[in-house]
Order: sequence, then C-alpha cells, then structure tokens
Amino acid sequence: MKIVHIAAELAPIAKVGGLADALFGLAKNFVHLGHDIEIIIPKYDTLKLDEIKDLKTVLMDLRSFFKGRWFHNQIWKGKVHGINVTFIDPKEPLDFFKRGKVYGCPDDPERFAYFSRVALEYLHQKEPCDIIHIHDWHAALVAPLYKIHFGGESKIILTLHNVAYRGITSSSLLEKIGLETDELVEDSDKRLINILKGGIIFSDFVTTVSPTYAKELLEKKDQDSLCALLDKQAFKGILNGIDYSYWNPETDPHLPFHYNAETIEVKKQLARLVRKQFSLDDEDSPLVCCITRLVYQKGPELIKSAIIRTLEGGGQFILIGATSDKETQTRFSNLKKKLSASRNVYIDLTYNEELAHLVYAASDLFLVPSIFEPCGLTQLIAMRYGSLPLVRRTGGLADTVFDGENGFTFDDPTAEAISKTLDRALKTWFEMPEEWKKMAEEAMERDYSWQIPAEEYLEIYNRLI
Ligand code: ADP
Repeated sequence: MKIVHIAAELAPIAKVGGLADALFGLAKNFVHLGHDIEIIIPKYDTLKLDEIKDLKTVLMDLRSFFKGRWFHNQIWKGKVHGINVTFIDPKEPLDFFKRGKVYGCPDDPERFAYFSRVALEYLHQKEPCDIIHIHDWHAALVAPLYKIHFGGESKIILTLHNVAYRGITSSSLLEKIGLETDELVEDSDKRLINILKGGIIFSDFVTTVSPTYAKELLEKKDQDSLCALLDKQAFKGILNGIDYSYWNPETDPHLPFHYNAETIEVKKQLARLVRKQFSLDDEDSPLVCCITRLVYQKGPELIKSAIIRTLEGGGQFILIGATSDKETQTRFSNLKKKLSASRNVYIDLTYNEELAHLVYAASDLFLVPSIFEPCGLTQLIAMRYGSLPLVRRTGGLADTVFDGENGFTFDDPTAEAISKTLDRALKTWFEMPEEWKKMAEEAMERDYSWQIPAEEYLEIYNRLI
C-alpha cells in the first residue's frame, strides 16, 4: 500500500509531544511490513538535521496559492530511521517555518493551512497514493481541500491525538487558501472556523488514540458539537504503542548501563548515578519521577501535591517539566526555590530528551495525574523501563494501567486522592519489595509496541480501499 502521512511533528527530528512519537512508531512499523510510506512535514529551522540521512532538494520551485497569489516552495527529501520524509520549505517572503519552534506563534492557523495546501499541491503532481493519513488540526484542512478542491481517488483518514486543540480562527483563512465551504464555520460564532471540524467532516474515517478517550468524546456529544460530529462519522479508538527499538532499556544509547526484566536490579545503579548527577542524597529510597509538558491537561496542581507528599513519605522526586505558559513557569520556579534546600527533590523546567531517557530508567514510580489524557505515552515508556506508573484513570491511562497489576490508579482529580494512592505505592515499595519487583517485571513484559495497533490501522486502510 502507498500511504502518505501529513503532520506537524515527527520524532526525533521535530518533536513536541506524543504525536511525534506516535507517527514515528506507526510509520516505522509499516515500513517494516513492506508498505510504501512517505511522511510530509514542514522544514522547520529547528529540525534535528543530524537524524536525517541523504537530505536533498527534489523540487526547486513548487508553486502554491495563498492570499490571492502564488508562492514558491522548495521540496526536500530525506530518510529518518529508514522512513521517507518530505519537507515543505516555503521561500521568501514567507518565514512560516523559521520561527525557532514548531508551535506557539499567533499565526499558527495560517502557517499550517499554508502547509496543508502545499502538501496537496505536491501530491497532486505525483502518482496517486492509496491513503492520505492526516494528524490533528494542523493537517486537518487537507481533508476539505482534497475533497472540494483537488479531487482524487485517495482515501483520507484523520487521527485525533488531542481534541483540546482545534485550530479555531477567523473564517477569512478559507479564502486565503482558496477553499470554498461553510461547513467549517463555528456554530457559536459565524465569524470563526474550526479547522478540526473540517477534518472530521471531510475524512473517510476518523480515529483517536485510545478506546476510552473515544468513548469519553462520544459521551460529550450533547455538550460539544465536535463530539456530536464524531457520533455520525466512522470513528474508532486505537491504542497508541511506543517504538520498541527506540525505547529499549537493553540498547538505549542514552543509558550507561543496560538491563531487561531479568536484570531489573541494574536500575538501582542507574538511580545512584542520577542521584549523584542531581546532587540528591544517596539513599535507598523510592525515586518518584514525572516527565511532562506542564499544562492544565497534565494536572500541574496534582503534581505539586505529589512532590510534597513524596517528600513527607520518605521518597525522592524528579520532575522534568517544560511549559510555555508564563504563569505555570513562575509557579513551578517558586516551588523549586522553596524546595532548594532539600536534597530529595530535583526540578528541571526544560524539555530534555536525553535526560528523559535516563530518568525513565532510574525511576521506581512514574507519575501521570492527567485531568484528561487521549492516550499518554509516558506511562508506556515508564513501564518499558520497569517503572510503575501512578496514573489518574482517564483516557488511554485507563486502558493501559491496572491497579495492583502493573501500577497504581486513582479517580478523583484531588490532592487527597493522589496522596492516598501515593501512600499506598510508597508502602508497597518499602514493605513489599518482592511484590514491587513482580509488578515491575509484569509492567516490562506487557506488549505496548506498535505491532497490534498497526494491524488495526491496516484493517481500516484495507476496508477503505
Ligand atoms: P503529550 O503529547 O500530551 O505531551 P504524551 O504522553 O503523549 O504527552 O507524550 C509525551 C512525549 O514527550 C514522551 O515521549 C515524553 O517522554 C516526552 N516529553 C514530555 N515532556 C518532556 C520533557 N520535559 N523533556 C523531555 N521529554 C518530554
């Protein structure tokens, strides 16, 4: 099958969060199965070029319509861990992808609308593919543009990685990219459009990244018109996996020592190393870790409560948390200052991929107290590295972590509920080391690779064509 993915992120070259990891893992699995895979992403100035092989220009000047005129684009190709990737590089005067970051610009809707149109201009002058698989709101305009403007035989599938981000913007954007339709207009305000809505209406199939998140979205159909649309669409929740060769404690190049479920004690050596690196007390105490974007979704207040409770309960805490929100940054910087005398807590408010690998490997207990969570990959990575997740039972967390088997769960998004569960987990670590070891081995041995989810996607592709 010839499958083209269009997205804003791709690990490890343009990663912000789980979307990047998910697309990388899924595509790699399809390449392995012998399918013809191509991923189209913008040529950001922040791409990790050392991870791209054979990068070369394949088209010097592809023209694309925007704001009433035709703009020039250079098209590049390269290989990322064996996957064919095509890069869209708009030429002067457009600086859409030279912003030093992937997202977070006031003109994000324009940037990604422009990208969606160029991706289709590029595909239009090639042999048609079987499937165009688009991801999140950034690529959602591809569906109406293809169906209304370009036309063709390819089937379109949209994956919703996080419905909290929808691409709501002024309706004038449609004219800028030459799209005539009123189907994207917001019910609540006719001056606005909802880009994700266009993706849902015009795709042939919509998926999201876990069965429970799919159920939660459908349950909101009376309060949320976007969820009501999903109820009318062909829609399925398929649990994400993680790439088992990239996230592998037996071979991870970021780790100084390697291990598997049979040599899980090696984690203690890694924890000792991390304690030394972060100037933590060298004690044999439970190491509780959290690696996250610090945004409302991830439960920052619950994370704060958990840090305090862990210290009270005799554990140590490591937080690697990045945020672009000034207020959250200030709150956590203040907490870091307040706890600066403690040799049992380390807080790093940056995004740090290398450090993340080491922290997953050193950690005993891994915290994911999300308010909502489409799938969540950090709990899967933690399990792969023999750390037990402590999660709030929502979305994909509810589909992957089972209390007393491979982790600990709680329901209420309150300090009280997380503290109680944390107490239970710390008690297990201190008083039942054999039980802990058994659970950690169980967590490591569960299969959360892409193998099963990739088959589910293939089944949908086959049904569509
Ligand atoms: P989301 O996409 O909502 O941020 P996921 O759990 O789906 O959450 O995916 C998060 C991915 O980003 C994981 O690979 C995780 O290791 C990584 N990550 C999140 N925050 C950080 C950070 N501060 N430093 C390094 N990696 C991070």
